[in-house]
Amino acid sequence: MSSGVAHFMEGIVAKNPAEKEFHQAVHEVVESIFPVIEQHPEFKKAGILERIVEPERVLMFRVPWQDDDGEVHVNRGFRVEFNGALGPYKGGLRFHASVNLGILKFLGFEQIFKNALTTLAMGGGKGGSDFDPKGKSDNEVMRFCQSFMTELHRHIGPDTDVPAGDIGVGGREIGYLFGQYRRLTNRFDAGVLTGKGLGWGGSLIRPEATGYGTVYFAQEMLGTRDESFEGKRVLISGSGNVAQFAAEKVMELGGKVISMSDSSGFIIDDAGMDQEKLQFVFDLKNKRRGRIREYSERFKGAEYHEGRGVWNTPCDVALPCATQNELTGEDAEILLKNGCIAVSEGANMPSTPDAVDLFVARKTLYGPGKAANAGGVAVSGLEMAQNSQRMSWTREEVDAKLHWIMKNIHSTSVETAERYGTPGNYVNGANIAGFLRVAHSMLDQGLT
Ligand code: NDP
Repeated sequence: MSSGVAHFMEGIVAKNPAEKEFHQAVHEVVESIFPVIEQHPEFKKAGILERIVEPERVLMFRVPWQDDDGEVHVNRGFRVEFNGALGPYKGGLRFHASVNLGILKFLGFEQIFKNALTTLAMGGGKGGSDFDPKGKSDNEVMRFCQSFMTELHRHIGPDTDVPAGDIGVGGREIGYLFGQYRRLTNRFDAGVLTGKGLGWGGSLIRPEATGYGTVYFAQEMLGTRDESFEGKRVLISGSGNVAQFAAEKVMELGGKVISMSDSSGFIIDDAGMDQEKLQFVFDLKNKRRGRIREYSERFKGAEYHEGRGVWNTPCDVALPCATQNELTGEDAEILLKNGCIAVSEGANMPSTPDAVDLFVARKTLYGPGKAANAGGVAVSGLEMAQNSQRMSWTREEVDAKLHWIMKNIHSTSVETAERYGTPGNYVNGANIAGFLRVAHSMLDQGLT
């Protein structure tokens, strides 16, 4: 670490104590952009770096709700409106027991650069709650969402701040949140949330977008070495929204998906997944809300393992699609030893810093989350555009736009990495390209 970066990080840690994921996310970006700032005295003079690490606004609020037995629970709600230079704040809501301010600040910070990379007009934000939807009834989830929106509705709007889904927030939750927003405001502001149902303003391909986009990005990376998904063994972690559609696209491109996981454990299916198995996962996770262990009970030959370890099986491509810091330096060593040539991140910051360092040092085709999983927010941007037009585009149209955006993010990352003297380094390419767009917009807009 250069002394300039070290000094800057000391300030970040002192000012944001105990927010370790936020420190990690800032550190990774600052490592990439510090040399760029040195070349741009106008950024330095305008304090771009000091301003970009400070959220424009942080909202924190009480969310009281009653369970089915009438017992009262209190969770904490958050919305981090991080940077609005490019457009309305945009980023998902996460409902998970682990949620705290530091995690949402890391996610909101990443979102600034990711949204910039899509080239669409979206600022960066993130929100959520430490509410855990697992094991709750539909009615309990609905009451929680209504209480959450009762506060949040004051702060959001189609031109202000547009939340979407993330871990623990899917179509069901977006529906309950939208219903309460509409009731409180007496407005059908379709563009206030994305990830809506198809019948009331949602976009085709939005559920698929993050997973498909991650695979499109991997396909582009593989293409730089004249490789493709055809016949490749692919490890996927997670079994939620991103993992499911990443699996679908890998299969469509001729790859063999051999794993999935959840927070309890993982399955290895050496025969590879097929349509029937994927349908089982859709039903298991999205309807019955069960555990991935059941996959191995249903399909012969698939093994279930409790706990961590999904990266220990030999593969050609790894797609981490569960959560932050799920792939450690040790996992990275094993993946590379076993012949893995590409890692494309569906999740946000799934690889720990030592894993990232190893991938970069060994010239692995490594697509960091803020580039590789930008397809989700990109199609959210397309959903907003359709809502403004009061039109719905076809599946083919949205998928073609998503594919084009992912190719464009890939080529921008490659070109920017080359221009700044680190060819093949997608981390630098994505961080610098995203940063430049935001920094120039902040300069244009004066001291905000
Ligand atoms: P889901 O809630 O649909 O699925 C999350 C999956 O990850 C589940 O299988 C879950 O298992 C697993 N998981 C969650 N926390 C942990 C943990 N601590 N340890 C191990 N496994 C865990 O979320 P998404 O698929 O939407 O999100 C997955 C990742 O993708 C997140 O990092 C998210 O930020 C990122 N992302 C999502 C986008 C989207 O459009 N949805 C857009 C861009 C990024 P379990 O059910 O047991 O909790």
